[in-house]
Amino acid sequence: MAMKNFTIQDASELYGVKEWGYGYFGINSKGHLEVCPTQDENLSMDVFEIVQHLRKKGVHPPLLLRFPQILTTRVQEINEAFRKAMRECGYEGDYQGVFPVKTNQMKEVVDQVVKAGFKYRYGLEAGSKPELMIALSMNLHPEALILCNGYKDENFIRMALLARRAGRNVLITVEKMTELPLILKVAKELKVEPLVGLRAKLSAPGAGKWESSAGDHAKFGLTTREILEAVEVMEKRGMLESIRELHFHLGSQITDIRRVKSAMKEATRLYAKLRKRGVPITYLNVGGGLGVDYDGSRTTFSSSMNYTVNEYAADVVWNVKEICGQEQVPLPNLLSESGRAVVAYHQMVVVDIIGLIDTTYAKYKVELTGQEPQIIKDLAYTRDHISVKNFAEMYHDAITQKDELLTLFNLGYLSLEDRAKGETIFWEVCRKLSRILSYKSLKYIPEEFQDLSKSLADKLIANFSVFQSLPDHWAIDQLFPVMPVHRLKEKPTLSATLCDITCDSDGKVDKFIDLKDVRDEIPLHEPKPGEPYYLAFFMTGAYQDTLGMRHNLFGTPNEAHVVVNEDEDFRIQQIVPAQTIDEVLRSVHYDPAQLIEGPARKGKRGDAEEDLRSFLVEQRKLHTYLDV
Ligand SMILES: *Cc1c(COP(=O)(O)O)cnc(C)c1O
Repeated sequence: MAMKNFTIQDASELYGVKEWGYGYFGINSKGHLEVCPTQDENLSMDVFEIVQHLRKKGVHPPLLLRFPQILTTRVQEINEAFRKAMRECGYEGDYQGVFPVKTNQMKEVVDQVVKAGFKYRYGLEAGSKPELMIALSMNLHPEALILCNGYKDENFIRMALLARRAGRNVLITVEKMTELPLILKVAKELKVEPLVGLRAKLSAPGAGKWESSAGDHAKFGLTTREILEAVEVMEKRGMLESIRELHFHLGSQITDIRRVKSAMKEATRLYAKLRKRGVPITYLNVGGGLGVDYDGSRTTFSSSMNYTVNEYAADVVWNVKEICGQEQVPLPNLLSESGRAVVAYHQMVVVDIIGLIDTTYAKYKVELTGQEPQIIKDLAYTRDHISVKNFAEMYHDAITQKDELLTLFNLGYLSLEDRAKGETIFWEVCRKLSRILSYKSLKYIPEEFQDLSKSLADKLIANFSVFQSLPDHWAIDQLFPVMPVHRLKEKPTLSATLCDITCDSDGKVDKFIDLKDVRDEIPLHEPKPGEPYYLAFFMTGAYQDTLGMRHNLFGTPNEAHVVVNEDEDFRIQQIVPAQTIDEVLRSVHYDPAQLIEGPARKGKRGDAEEDLRSFLVEQRKLHTYLDV
């Protein structure tokens, strides 16, 4: 194989950034990760420079970087897609989206989304009382909708109806039959006409990791019978006019466009039959679920999706138009509640690599002196004779020999040096075998060898917490793209997995995106002594912020909001400092001042005690991660 220089094109292919980057991420001529937050490649920011700049200001990794301009383009893209789809098929109705606050409740995020959505009369969706308070506080277009989903108690309903009485467009979607009498009771008391929606439990199931949000046994929504009951209740009260919306939600990250089509058919029929029964529904709400192509494969794999935003909008619009035409009912205004697709891209987490765990003696080779015990000689024989022809048999020998090595050590027959030598040779056998398996490109790799490359992988330690920054990777094996922030003109020489700094063996990343499959390792560079090595995790903007948890008492990392300027430079708009040790301790009910005065130390205040005290006082103000 001819050696050629590793180029940024090679890096781009290796990490697949063109496929999943969606025009937001790329590699610049310096071999650094770049962000184009407006999808204009002439307006790019160098992430390595951003990180260096922040470091100089004392803002250390791990870093959560937000790019508000990405949020703006996402809001535009989704709204424009529906407008375009409606224009193209002559849909005489309106589209009015809402942003589900639960996907990212951070103030800066909601502010930006609301600002970008103003001209589209883009609204908000709330699933709890605090989320509704957020929604009510925002400067929305007067015609924008505020939707209340999720389970509701009387106070939630009262909050919504008081806002309605004060002139806001607050619509309450009934998730559960018991909510309806509460709505009617409070509405009567407040003398306000409620705007009510009905959430249907569709039979068309969702798909993938989040599929249980829909289907006959879903947690949310009304059955056909309950919908009829709700209509009857409202009819009896002469309040049919109040039913304005029909809603469904298929679950998050719909990977297959066919799910959307079949759900649209079912939901539109439901809408049409209700219209014909005299229920004056004006909004058909298709919920969330618009996917994000995390791996760039454009497939129905759970990290991907087999459609574009435009195709999604077109399928929704077209199916509604088609079926309403058949049923001869008026076209509804369309509503959607995309969350993930709006916020996923705008955020990345940059971590620094602080070390490498070598469990396989990767740096060592053993030359025999001839004086070694027989078992070491046996292992060396295996190492020197393993080949394409005999690898299975020889590998079994090596495993037996390694067991024997340990037995002999435990019986006291081997020295520490002998044991280390034997183990080193064993890993040499494994590496040789791994090369044989990869060169040979065997049609079928026996199962016993499939984990081999995994156990040979280099483990890099990253200064962050998976539980805080990528909770869905831990909880539901969600895959996020990972790529180095710099050194992208250098060929990576490691095949690595990542460990975080929590004392939890689950605090790791050992599943990575791939166009065809899921990778167990990722090619990375060997960290150079005295030089930082930064990696970025991408598309962490949806759900991760508030799902993130303080396992091991690692708090939120430093955060910076960065925008691009016309002159090709970046501007740090805002820095949000990491949670301090003090704050994290308070969150688990310690009073840090009292804690420092702990009972054991009372009474004896020597110099040593004073030194410790003043050091603790200093540390309290710092962030919770390693200072390296
Ligand atoms: C969570 C949720 C959404 C957002 O879903 P995404 O997949 O993030 O778009 C929308 N509607 C409802 C009712 C939800 O519960």
